[in-house]
Amino acid sequence: MIRLHDTLAREKRPFVPQNPQRITMYVCGPTVYGRAHIGNARPAVVFDTLARLIRHEFGAKSLAYARNVTDVDDKIIASAEAEGVDPAVITDRYERHYLEDMGALGVAPPDIAPHATQEIRPMVAMIERLVGLGHAYEAEGHILFSVTSHKDYGELSRRDREAMVAGARVEVAPYKRDPADFVLWKPSAEGVIGWDSPWGRGRPGWHIECSAMIQAHLGETIDIHGGGLDLIFPHHENEIAQSRCAHAGAPLARYWVHNGFVDMGAEKMSKSLGNIITPADLLAQGHRGETLRLALLSAHYRSPLPWAETLVSQAKTNLDRLYRAAGDASPGEVDAGVMEALWDDLNTPLALSRLVALEDPSTLKASASLLGLLEGNTEEWFQGDGDSSGIEARIADRSEAKKNRDFATADRIRDELKADGIVLEDGPGGTTWRRE
Ligand SMILES: [Zn+2]
Repeated sequence: MIRLHDTLAREKRPFVPQNPQRITMYVCGPTVYGRAHIGNARPAVVFDTLARLIRHEFGAKSLAYARNVTDVDDKIIASAEAEGVDPAVITDRYERHYLEDMGALGVAPPDIAPHATQEIRPMVAMIERLVGLGHAYEAEGHILFSVTSHKDYGELSRRDREAMVAGARVEVAPYKRDPADFVLWKPSAEGVIGWDSPWGRGRPGWHIECSAMIQAHLGETIDIHGGGLDLIFPHHENEIAQSRCAHAGAPLARYWVHNGFVDMGAEKMSKSLGNIITPADLLAQGHRGETLRLALLSAHYRSPLPWAETLVSQAKTNLDRLYRAAGDASPGEVDAGVMEALWDDLNTPLALSRLVALEDPSTLKASASLLGLLEGNTEEWFQGDGDSSGIEARIADRSEAKKNRDFATADRIRDELKADGIVLEDGPGGTTWRRE
């Protein structure tokens, strides 16, 4: 039986779905205004692996997995203004990149991918309901959720009031009744993306979209709600408050599952710290998506994962070994030891160590596939050792640099490829490459 650590209960609990024929899982998805970094890829890979496990246990059609796309947000509006384009140009571009990058890591698209801009009506309906029930109020064109109207506010993060006010990093707004109150709807200025509403033309705050889309697509109470640790407060706390107040106290999710951060040395990887590594960069360096997936699964999902080059090279060595052991076998039965490790709160490091010890190639193939690994062909894995599109992309970058007379960059790319065993040859027809 699967056991999951539930952040709300603060313990591992046996996973018993409400309806085993329709298990519901929602994971907060990307805000599409920039390229995803490897820390953003971690929840995508972790919940893809959990989805595989649930489907293996309960049946291929047992799970309805929704992951939203936040395509209206102040950062998107700012990017669009900076580029002088419509916000949809930004969001289309980065959603496409996100799906490409996650696809390379073996992450299947979710069953349902609701977009905030397509779900304004259910959001407005939920806000109207909260206003009508006295849980939200209008102030200077904004609609705010009144946290003091919900007595259990803080149940997920268990913060005291002072920490909540500080942690919410709420803007000082004189019209708020309480400093911890948060925005459900805000006015849009002329020329800024917006929709008509009972409170004038405006746009939703971030938190309301998940509550409204969960209700619209999965129901009032879902089985699993997932996301990164950083979403516990305020985002998930606020989702719970909105949904429970709109649904007569019904719980929003029966299991709250949160993954840890990817760290860079002592720091969390984040755009604002400027220390990010993207899957796109790593793929362009010639690493394969499957290698990155194994690297991301090499720590338990709740633990921090320190990102390092050795982590990637170790993952590659392990995959070489696993592919060699699997040969061209077709998948058989899943190994009981691997299964047990995954049942125990998705213990992927233990599952991987058991995988490495397996001797029967068919068992190995089937067991690895639960983790989204060894799904390719062994011959292709070793052939030319990898997808060459990353190398081609680096060569294209180098040609571009040469064209711009940026010879330092061109030389650096040549040296980096050489360090990876790739030799470039410039000829009249362009640049060709070979392995050393
Ligand atoms: Zn959310």
